[in-house]
Amino acid sequence: MPKKVTPIQVDNGKVIECSPITLDLKIKNKKNKNEYIKYVDTNLYFRHMGGAGTIYCCDCQYSEEITSHLHGIEFDDYGFEIEAYSSGYQCQSCSKFYTLHYNEVKELEESDKQCECGGKLEDDKPILCPQCKSKKVEYYCRIIT
Ligand SMILES: [Zn+2]
Ligand SMILES: [Zn+2]
Repeated sequence: MPKKVTPIQVDNGKVIECSPITLDLKIKNKKNKNEYIKYVDTNLYFRHMGGAGTIYCCDCQYSEEITSHLHGIEFDDYGFEIEAYSSGYQCQSCSKFYTLHYNEVKELEESDKQCECGGKLEDDKPILCPQCKSKKVEYYCRIIT
């Protein structure tokens, strides 16, 4: 079972509603840390989102902290700086969310990495609520890299 989180208090922050198309621009202009970027779309895809935040189900009020895409820096065995990232995926069978380290993403692409239930992990399929399987989910993006 994915761990449950307290729904974020969006009332404390200003919520900007935008489609994934205008999102990049909004992210670049994001100045206020209390500002949440809320995705409004009938279908959300990890591949088209960004940053990290909270997924919220409009039907059953389930919420979970997820990572869509975060950039970072790591050092390899020789001390060289390498660009690292983490990406969000969802199991198409049990709907569990995964945050894969870039090495795991490579593993996924090269050798059918699977969910612990045996299901397929995808980032280009509509996100479903892990609890009620509804597609009416919202994404409140808080962290941008
Ligand atoms: Zn739900
Ligand atoms: Zn699964």
